Amino acid sequence: SNRESVSSPYRSWGGSGRVPAGVGRKRSRIVVTGGAGFVGSHLVDKLLRRGDDVIVIDNFFTGRKDNVMHHFGDPRFELVRHDVVEPILLEVDQIYHLACPASPVHYKYNPVKTIMTNVMGTLNMLGLAKRIGAKFLLTSTSEVYGDPLEHPQKETYWGHVNPIGVRSCYDEGKRTAETLTMDYHRGAGVEVRIARIFNTYGPRMCLDDGRVVSNFVAQAIRKQPLTVYGDGKQTRSFQYVADLVDGLMALMEGEHVGPFNLGNPGEFTMLELAEVVKETIDSSATIEFKPNTADDPHKRKPDISKAKELLNWEPKVPLREGLPLMVADFRNRILNEDEGKGN
Ligand code: NAD
Ligand code: UDP
Ligand code: UDP
Repeated sequence: SNRESVSSPYRSWGGSGRVPAGVGRKRSRIVVTGGAGFVGSHLVDKLLRRGDDVIVIDNFFTGRKDNVMHHFGDPRFELVRHDVVEPILLEVDQIYHLACPASPVHYKYNPVKTIMTNVMGTLNMLGLAKRIGAKFLLTSTSEVYGDPLEHPQKETYWGHVNPIGVRSCYDEGKRTAETLTMDYHRGAGVEVRIARIFNTYGPRMCLDDGRVVSNFVAQAIRKQPLTVYGDGKQTRSFQYVADLVDGLMALMEGEHVGPFNLGNPGEFTMLELAEVVKETIDSSATIEFKPNTADDPHKRKPDISKAKELLNWEPKVPLREGLPLMVADFRNRILNEDEGKGN
């Protein structure tokens, strides 16, 4: 029955007779900060499927209970409302530290809070990892490369970041978080991992978070014009969320500190992205040009040779296959919104 399968340690084996990845591995207790957010909630799904105990720490700034509600009632799942800027005492084996708003609209909303989250939040989680001997993984970002002068970006590139701009709270915050992580590693022997994540999309992204994929998909569904900022010739590389989750887990379980670029090397201009969204959702969608935001990086594309070689990881889902996978989720939420308004 369903009840038995929930409590069985063999739950994720699927009875296929294949040797599962978790064999011989003791069940771990894992904290995911920011676990009610977009990426975090997909990671939580996979960790629970693997058979681990998961504690989510989230202050619900950009995350939602809806994203993890399907685990309520699972004794291996706990949800704690907590702000990582404050210290916390827990006993766990691994810490996936994701807590931080990721969309430019969200992180610019209260830039000082964004810095506090990146610096104090990361310090607290590293202090926790040090005290209990837990493994710590930081989700850093491709933004540490700023408006890059090297293309594609390798992990050896030190970046081209404006320290006093409107994106600095995030870019410099994450750079400091990386520094703290390496200093706890060198100074206190904490076992750490650093991921530099490139633009990621998928179900459960916030509807109106201002990121380009969520904007275009929501606009196409709502029959609004797709808003292209600037001339639309700037590029990004878009990774499907399931690929990222695989990469984060491979990094945590592997032997290497990093930093590792985790992203999909497929590079698209914003105009090309708009075309793919039109093909996927509505070929009659129109484009509206808007002024671009300050300090917008002109191009971005990961060199992932290091992750391929040392983590045996590479993304599997190209944009044209991944985009359709988020459309049903967006349609449902937009429909519910409309019903809520009495339309
Ligand atoms: P998200 O905004 O959906 O999730 C962030 C989560 O952290 C939310 O649930 C939010 O409520 C929580 N949070 C924020 N501040 C907090 C605080 N002070 N205390 C406790 N919880 C807090 O963003 P996401 O896309 O899921 O990103 C997750 C992580 O990955 C972030 O650290 C982000 O910087 C990094 N990242 C994401 C991308 C991407 O494209 N999605 C790219 C690069 C890096
Ligand atoms: N910390 C925490 N939980 C713990 C251990 C530490 O939140 O279990 C916090 C602690 O409050 C401090 C930070 O992590 O703000 C850094 O801790 P560390 O022990 O490295 O530094 P110290 O407290 O000695 O300055
Ligand atoms: N962008 C756009 N239309 C939108 C939102 C964003 O053309 O409605 C552009 C934005 O100017 C940037 C790119 O898309 O060049 C990616 O922006 P996003 O905020 O998604 O991510 P980030 O800038 O952090 O890579």
